[in-house]
This record gives sequence, C-alpha cells and structure tokens, in this order.
Amino acid sequence: MNPELRPLSPLPAATTGPRFALSVDVEEWYHTCLVPAYVDPQRRPSGLTEELDWLLPDLLELLAASGSRATFFVLGEVAAHLPGRIREVAAAGHEICSHSQLHFRIAGQSRQELASSLRRSKALLEDLIGQEVRGFRAPEWSFREPRHPLLGLVADAGYRYDSSLAPVVGAGRWSNPRRPYLLQWTDRGSLLELPPLVFGGPLHLPAGSWPGRLAGTAPILAAARRAARRGELPVMVVHPWEVSGRPTPGPLRGMARFVHETGRGGYRERFGRLLAAVPWVPIGEAAAEWLAVAQPSASAAADPSAEHIGWFSDTVGAPTTEAELARALAERPGRP
Ligand SMILES: [Zn+2]
Repeated sequence: MNPELRPLSPLPAATTGPRFALSVDVEEWYHTCLVPAYVDPQRRPSGLTEELDWLLPDLLELLAASGSRATFFVLGEVAAHLPGRIREVAAAGHEICSHSQLHFRIAGQSRQELASSLRRSKALLEDLIGQEVRGFRAPEWSFREPRHPLLGLVADAGYRYDSSLAPVVGAGRWSNPRRPYLLQWTDRGSLLELPPLVFGGPLHLPAGSWPGRLAGTAPILAAARRAARRGELPVMVVHPWEVSGRPTPGPLRGMARFVHETGRGGYRERFGRLLAAVPWVPIGEAAAEWLAVAQPSASAAADPSAEHIGWFSDTVGAPTTEAELARALAERPGRP
C-alpha cells in the first residue's frame, strides 16, 4: 500500500536558528552502481585498491578541524571489513547509519533480499557501536520516489528515518519534496524522510555530486542558507573518495569515470571551506531540533507524527510528548 505523505511545517528559521546536516556515504571508489561487477563481491576483480582505511581517519581530522559532525551511512560490507574504523567514527561523536549491506540498487533486489540487507546491516552496525542505528540511505538514491513499493521495508526493519529520495531528475524525481516529510502507511509504521540538498533553482541539481563539486562553494552555501531560511533542513552529502585529494586509484570508464572525476580538482579545499562556513551536525540531531519546533497538526493529540517528534526530541531534551510540544509551541514567541 502506498504511504501518505505528510508535510511538516516548521517555524521560520529566524525564531530558532538555522540547522545544517552533513552526511557521508561510506564506501570505496569502486562501490558504484554504474559498474555492477564492482559492487558484487562475487564478481569483483581481485586487487582493487582500497582507500577507506586511511580515508576515514583523514576525513575525521578534516571534520574535527572545523568542529563539524556528520551522519555516516556505512555499507555493511565496509563495516565488516573495517570494524575498528567505524568504531572510531562513532567515538568521534558522529552518527552511524546504514547504507545497506552491499551497494546494490533497490531495483535489482527481491523483497526478501532487501529486507535481509536492511536488517543485517542495521544489526551489524548496532553490534559494532552499541547504539541504535536510526537512519537508512539507499545506494544511488535508488528508491527514486516515495511510492516505491519496497520503501515500507525500511520502516519494517525498525529504521526511524530515511534519506534516499532525491528531488533530482535521474537519481530520484524532480517532483520529490525538498523539505522533510513523514511517510505514513496505514498498514505499517512511519518514516521521517530527509531529502538531500539541491541547488540551481528549478534545475534541482544535487549539491553532493559532480554538479556540486563543479559549482564551487558559494552556490552550495547560498542554497543551504536559503533552504534553512525557508524552514527546510539542508542535508549535504559527501563520499570519502571525493575529498581524498587524489585521482581515482583504479579503472573507471564512461559515465562512472565522469561522475567520479568531474569537479574533483581542488574539491578537498572547497569542501574544507564549506565545512568552515556553517555549523554542520548529524542528520538525526538536526532533525531532532527541526522537529522540536515543527508545528503539529491541528489535532496534535491524534497526530501520528507525535511518536516521531517525541523520539527525536528525546535526543535534544526538547518536549517529549505531543501535549508538551503543543504547549511549547504555544508559548514560543513569534509563532505565525
Ligand atoms: Zn553509495
């Protein structure tokens, strides 16, 4: 059954301060869906250069230099291979979430395979870090749109939020919402959807891929600040290989090469400037603050989003019940 899309209306950012969320998709350069033989461990050529063992500590230093924290969407395959590195990421104050078990597109998986990947990667990461894994991002944004018939499996597996539905032609749908919303099923739970940042006005270009690398820092920051002013929650995306400061260490051809190499020159420095410009925090934390001031619907007591608002609010010590939330909102000056 298709979910109902429930928009959430936050207060203007001016009353609460803007929030900027940063996310890192933790995968090697060869985890690209454009080269199926690379993402399938059974078919992967042996001897491909791996970088994450040094790229992850390098990225942690880069983030620490600006006081930035992020959500790391980790492939289960990577976590099994580098458990110590993932623990270091968590110990540095970042949020650990799932990027599924292997980097397969959703469309190539059966219902059972996807359900298993969602549960397996979540359990593996939770065992590693000793904390609940709350968020999921599909490889290559491959749910594409909110009415994908398997999207409900993310809620079934116990995730609280998803960040897989890009408002981008190709990677997703141009018409996908740009602001957070609830996906509410009548026959199962709900998911908070937190879409990635786009720029370029009506073009909806992805801020976290080659168009964003090519554009430079100023247009991305302007888009993030504009989104925050509109009361949206800008979610920036980066991959460790993008900020390695080195060329791709193995063979990629055609579109895969274009996507990896375009705009890479100098991107490490541009990304550093992006980090230094605004305070970046993990998605779960930004969403908690965002939801703590989101306006409940007219019938707050019967609002199914209240459970989500309560959970996220717990993490920042904000109101924990819908009644408290409604009271806090009523008392808040400047409520429209
Ligand atoms: Zn990925």
